Amino acid sequence: MLNFNYSIPTKVFFGKNKIELLADNIKQYGNKVLLVYGGGSIKKSGLYEEVIESLNKNKIESWELSGVKPNPRISSVRKGIEICRENKIDLVLAVGGGSVIDCSKIIAAGYYYDNDPWDIVVDPRKIGKALPIATILTLAATGSEMDAGAVITNPETSEKLGTGHPNIAPKFSILDPTYTFTVPKEQTAAGTVDIMSHVFEVYFSNTKEAYLQNRMAEAVLKTCINYGKRAMDEPNDYEARANLMWAGSLAINGLLGYGKETEWSAHEIEHELSAYYDITHGVGLAILFPYWMEYALNDDTVDKFVEYGVNVWDIDSDNDKYEIAKSSINKTREYFNSLGMPSRLEEVGIGEEKLEQMAKGATSRGTLGRFKPLEAEDVLSIYKSAL
Ligand code: NAP
Ligand code: FE
Repeated sequence: MLNFNYSIPTKVFFGKNKIELLADNIKQYGNKVLLVYGGGSIKKSGLYEEVIESLNKNKIESWELSGVKPNPRISSVRKGIEICRENKIDLVLAVGGGSVIDCSKIIAAGYYYDNDPWDIVVDPRKIGKALPIATILTLAATGSEMDAGAVITNPETSEKLGTGHPNIAPKFSILDPTYTFTVPKEQTAAGTVDIMSHVFEVYFSNTKEAYLQNRMAEAVLKTCINYGKRAMDEPNDYEARANLMWAGSLAINGLLGYGKETEWSAHEIEHELSAYYDITHGVGLAILFPYWMEYALNDDTVDKFVEYGVNVWDIDSDNDKYEIAKSSINKTREYFNSLGMPSRLEEVGIGEEKLEQMAKGATSRGTLGRFKPLEAEDVLSIYKSAL
């Protein structure tokens, strides 16, 4: 195991009606709030009313930034920063999925940054102070409610980039699984794939002796496999929604990756698809991850795939190791398909046109990964195999 510093600073209030803790926790930071939300799902579900009522009752003043899109745009961040500066906002409250939360994080950090906030997306080292951030999560997927990362899109340059800094981890997050009852089937599926992908990014690693982290990672994967389809079929199933919600936070809050070398290649490769074609993140990952696995499988990595196949998919450990590895990859793809996810780029309207550009984009910040290091030509091969 590698050395690490443990820090997961976000307070989590998990369960039904935890919104009752919202106002008191906001007041620890002030009484002027920027409420950030998306295209209206929180209005339809009634959550918006609940939040406003709680703020009003407790004399917390609020301003709003609405219309944050999936694959959140830098233009929304700029707008949010302006509102915060004009009104001396004390805390940014994100109510929604990962897009709303990520946008809020960069608003919070951009508030203290003197130049254009796109700079701090491109270069995380430019992130310094940030306004406090709180979240009310409505979609189990990204784990942004409990991590220090954010992914922002710049349509002018066709870039979608991840950034991060400890100062943008939320101060607290309210995780009430009932708020995810209204998540449509496709988003439930995409969210489940995203959670599993976050686990894959830290599970497939050269660090061999992180036994504890590996077993915890497998438990999160099994939880997704057990409950993903069930949540799609029974959207109001509290047990399924609650398990997925907590799995989403634990997948990426650091717990599973501490003490290990981590990968994050497939995420970079997917971000290019979302940047150029504006597709749903989890859909892109469902297509790409099994191809990444096939590309990563070789004599040096096969044992890791065997561990995955035997422990997660219950494949007979007496089989030939390459058979186990290939079967584990097929099972991954079949599971994603059972959630209604596509397995080829052409199914989401992506052809050969931009593959080279995207492969260069994915590696623009250097070689990807260490379990299977990837240069632009490797990424291009993965895209081509996924056509
Ligand atoms: P999202 O983009 O936040 O939301 C997707 C859609 O789901 C939106 O149309 C949203 O509608 C709807 N929705 C959300 N909650 C709902 C609810 N309770 N009921 C009905 N509809 C609901 O989805 P996401 O998967 O959470 O976030 C994806 C983004 O996060 C991507 O940009 C991805 O790259 C990024 N990401 C970030 C991290 C990280 O660590 N920070 C990790 C992985 C991915 P409304 O807009 O109307 O609310
Ligand atoms: Fe993700």
